[in-house]
Amino acid sequence: MRSSIILILILVSSCKQVKSDWIDRSLHEGLYNLDYSESFETYSINKNPKNIKNTIGNLEEAKLYYDAIFKEDLIFAVLFVDNQNWDKYAYAPPPGMPQSFYGGNILLGLGKSVMASRWEQTLSQFSGSEIDTLKFHFGDSIDLDLFFRDGLSLHELAHLYQFVKIDDGMQRRWLSELFANLCQVGAAKNLSNNSVYYQMDVFQQLLIDKELWGDVQYRTLQDFEEHYFDIMKLGRNYGWYQTQFYVIAKQLHEKYGDDVLQNFRNLLIAIDPKKVSEIEDDKLELLIEQYLGKEALNIINWDHDS
Ligand SMILES: [Zn+2]
Repeated sequence: MRSSIILILILVSSCKQVKSDWIDRSLHEGLYNLDYSESFETYSINKNPKNIKNTIGNLEEAKLYYDAIFKEDLIFAVLFVDNQNWDKYAYAPPPGMPQSFYGGNILLGLGKSVMASRWEQTLSQFSGSEIDTLKFHFGDSIDLDLFFRDGLSLHELAHLYQFVKIDDGMQRRWLSELFANLCQVGAAKNLSNNSVYYQMDVFQQLLIDKELWGDVQYRTLQDFEEHYFDIMKLGRNYGWYQTQFYVIAKQLHEKYGDDVLQNFRNLLIAIDPKKVSEIEDDKLELLIEQYLGKEALNIINWDHDS
């Protein structure tokens, strides 16, 4: 009897530990602890990195927003790594492509990322008035790290609020990405500085209007599940999917407001593949309707199946 009580106590305390400190600190090796925020841990490959205070400020506000919505006080760490050292820490290229890890870490670019400079090279394809629009939102030098680091950091933080509840198992990858886009929209709209929202919105809308992704190989949600890593390697194809998810997320947020974030996370928890077996598409559609609302399916309706 006594040994079983001790066992229960050990189990309870170990569960508590996972929840209160789930950060995988093995990833921080070789990084400086910056201590730039009281809301979360900050690490960098440089001792005195420049131009990250704005990113940290946005993440602090986003944390307050997500904590309130998801009723959490999430602990996490933000790692800033430059192009040269990216591959040591990241699980995928290109350098500067934000990513999050089960284990409470977000990885963001430092300095001018390869990700942003690649896209800045395509700006020659934009018209004079489009360039003026971009300059209005991104400054005269059109710094696209403001989207790829600052804007997408909100997306990566959203994945942590997902992973803290459901590990990194996913019933559908596209639902997970749509969730992060939805959170990104909600958080950006609620920042005290609305420029992050306009940067993500204007830039992605221009990409869609000008079809700058080119003729992408994969276009269906089924492709996204079956060829996810190929699509990630084909960076433009992955970006194409993300802009489609962004458009849907924006519509969902316009229709349902902030409540849809919590409902969406509850859906992801309910279909956690560790708890339930694989769910067929028709059953999944019923669950989406049940958790998100009647019109959600119409909004999500994917029109790239042919
Ligand atoms: Zn994502």
